[in-house]
Amino acid sequence: MKNDNVAIGIDIGGTKISAAVVSNGQVISEVLTYKTPDNSKDILNTILEEIESLKDQYKPKYVGIATAGTVDIDNSKVTGSTGNLPEGYNKLEFKKVIEEKLGLKTLIENDANAAAYAEFKIGSGRGHNNTIVITLGTGIGTGIIVDGKLFRGKSGAGAECGHLVINIEKKRRCTCGAWNCWEAFASGTGFAKNAKEMANEIPINERTGILKDKNPDEITTYDIIEGIKKDDPFAVKAYEYWQNLVLIGLISLANVFDPDSIILSGGMAKFINYEKLQKELEKETVVSNVKLFPAKTENYAGLIGAAFLAVEKFSG
Ligand SMILES: [Zn+2]
Repeated sequence: MKNDNVAIGIDIGGTKISAAVVSNGQVISEVLTYKTPDNSKDILNTILEEIESLKDQYKPKYVGIATAGTVDIDNSKVTGSTGNLPEGYNKLEFKKVIEEKLGLKTLIENDANAAAYAEFKIGSGRGHNNTIVITLGTGIGTGIIVDGKLFRGKSGAGAECGHLVINIEKKRRCTCGAWNCWEAFASGTGFAKNAKEMANEIPINERTGILKDKNPDEITTYDIIEGIKKDDPFAVKAYEYWQNLVLIGLISLANVFDPDSIILSGGMAKFINYEKLQKELEKETVVSNVKLFPAKTENYAGLIGAAFLAVEKFSG
């Protein structure tokens, strides 16, 4: 049937919920975006509304939902919520309600996994059967493709590389509650924290450049990026320190998975010096030919990937 590859993709995040109709990786409808409601019931109603308003015109067969938090091994429900979604979110029966009310088979996947799958199908990872997609944002999200399939672990909660532990001393707590996770240091939030700590260690009378008129605790990522443009020594040092923290995670992942490529996406990825890190990867890993790329599918990657996964699961 002609519409066998047409699905509605939905991406549920802490600030907004986006939905669109996707066919073979292409968004073919307008993208509907709503602010994420602050109670769980309204989230479900928002999604039902979005599907209703898209389904008559485009006749999709399936629904793919990308969500923050963990998802069970059958891609049927959210099992663990994240702090930025309201209480009771992980009790919502998206699949059951959508299938019963609207008659559309529904798949649920973690948002980082879904975005990685889109990158593998139509982005920088196209043609790479083994690839790792790392989203450097306020946290670090990751999705891993092994032999053309998403790696999900025994319960669906795997591939959380942001929580690789990178230090033995108790230096910094992660949002997950554990100590010294990679994302606590190498995410955008980590970037700003590193810089504040470094600045606080410099005696007041030795603070120059971007540190001169600023309390170290008020330093932002923006200040550092602006400082780099002016060759500010502190900004350059803070930036290089952060980039090396990103690099050590990439080296570990490359050594474990021996992938064709590692792809970086998210707001912080644009600050990466790809050429430099590519050389470091070649030097520091025991595996070879791991190519580092920026992502191509930034916008709507989550909903596109979820739609792809729904079509592949249900169209057989
Ligand atoms: Zn953690």
